[in-house]
Amino acid sequence: MPALKKVLLIKMENYFSSKYKKIGILGGGQLGKMLLDVTRRYDLYTKVLDPTADAPCSVGSKEFVQGSFNDYDTVMQFGQDCDIITIEIENVNTQAMKDLQAMGKKVFPQPEIVELIKNKVQQKQFYQDHQVPAAPWFGFKNKAEMLRRIEKNSTQLPFVWKSAVGGYDGRGVIIVRSKSDIESIPDVPGLIEELAAIEHEIAIVAARNEVGEVRVFPPVEMAFHPVANLVEYVFCPADLSAEYLDAAGIIAHSLVEKLQIVGLLAVEMFVTKKGKIWVNECAPRVHNSGHLTIEACITSQFEQHLRAILGFPLGNTDLIRPAVMVNLTGEENFSGPVFYEGAEKMLAIDGAYLHLYGKTETRPYRKMGHVTITADSLDKAKENAMKVKDILKVKSLKGDGRPKTEDGRRKTEKS
Ligand code: ADP
Repeated sequence: MPALKKVLLIKMENYFSSKYKKIGILGGGQLGKMLLDVTRRYDLYTKVLDPTADAPCSVGSKEFVQGSFNDYDTVMQFGQDCDIITIEIENVNTQAMKDLQAMGKKVFPQPEIVELIKNKVQQKQFYQDHQVPAAPWFGFKNKAEMLRRIEKNSTQLPFVWKSAVGGYDGRGVIIVRSKSDIESIPDVPGLIEELAAIEHEIAIVAARNEVGEVRVFPPVEMAFHPVANLVEYVFCPADLSAEYLDAAGIIAHSLVEKLQIVGLLAVEMFVTKKGKIWVNECAPRVHNSGHLTIEACITSQFEQHLRAILGFPLGNTDLIRPAVMVNLTGEENFSGPVFYEGAEKMLAIDGAYLHLYGKTETRPYRKMGHVTITADSLDKAKENAMKVKDILKVKSLKGDGRPKTEDGRRKTEKS
C-alpha cells in the first residue's frame, strides 16, 4: 500500500494515445527497438534519434530523426518538442541533456548520473564514497602517474587496468599479467583494480521512479564468450544461495537509492571465490542482462523503464519461469547481408522466443539478436538453450540471395 500512496503524489500527465506528449529516445539500436514494443502497446508517442538511417528503431517509432546523439546542436534541436527524454546508450551529449532539463523538460536518467557512469574512475569513486562494495582500486590521470602509483603501492601482478572512458564490451579493459602487458597499456586516464577471483558474474536490473519507489529484478548469471568478451548466455535464477541472492538484491536496491536515479539501473557484480560480492560496473539503462525479463518476468525491463520515467507505478518483477538467454552474434568469417541459418528448425524448440534486431548486415561477433528459452526448470531451459546454440547460426547471404559460405562457395547442408 505505501507504494500506491506515493504514486498518487506524482502529477499524472496524459501520455497515452496523445500526439502532444512526446517521448524522445537518444539512440535507436536494439535496446530502443525493444522499448518501442512497449510504447506501441501503451500507444505512447515516440521520437528516436540515431545516426544510422536503417537503425533498428527506424521502424516502430512515430518519428525517426537521423543524426548524432553525440552532437550538442542535434540533441538540442531533437529535444525541442519532446516532453520527456531518455536514452538507450550512454554515449550521448550530456550537456545538451542538461540544457534540455534546464528548459523544463524531464530528462531521465538524470544527465549527471549518465556523466558519472560514463567515467569509470568517477564511478569507482562514487562506490568508495557511498560504501558500495567493489574491488580495491586506485585512479590516475596518465601512464606516468600510473607507474608511480604501482611502484609506491607495491601493486603486485596480476591486476586489472581500465580506461576511464570509452570502453565497452571488454574494450578498455586489460588483465595485466606481465611486465610486457604493463608496457602495452595506453597513456590515458584510467584505474587499476584487484583481479577478482570470480566464482559468478551476476547482474541485477533495478528501477526507481520519481517518488522513490524501487523494484529489483531477480539476479541473473552471465556467461561470457571466451574470445569476444561478450555475454554469451544469461541464466535466471542465478546459481547462488538465497543468502547471496538477497545480499546482491540489497546492494542493487541501495545503489539506485544512493544514486537517486529515475529509470533503470543495471548493476553488474562479481561473486568472488572468497565469498565477497563486488559491484563491477553499472549502466543507467535497459541492459542485455535483462532481456529475458520480456518472457520470464511479470514485467519486462523495458516496460519497467518506461513506467519509472513516466511516473507510473512500477511493475511486479517476479520470475514466472526459469529462463536462459542466448545472444545471437555474427559467426566468425562471415560479413555481409545476414542469413539466419537454422532459424525455422530452432523455432520448433519448446519455449524458445526469437528476437532479431533488424540489422541487415552481419559481422563477426556483431550482436544481431537473441533467443530467450523458458522452461519448468533451469536445467531444461539450459538444455534447450544448447540446442538453440547448435542449430541457429548467424551467417551471411551473398549475391543471388542463396546462402553461401564466406569464400563464395554455395552452401551445402554440411558446410
Ligand atoms: P566493459 O565496460 O567493457 O564491459 P567490464 O568492466 O565489465 O568492461 O569488464 C569486462 C570483463 O572483464 C568483465 O565482465 C570481467 O569478466 C572482466 N573483469 C573486469 N574487471 C575485473 C576484475 N577486477 N577482476 C576480474 N575480472 C574482471
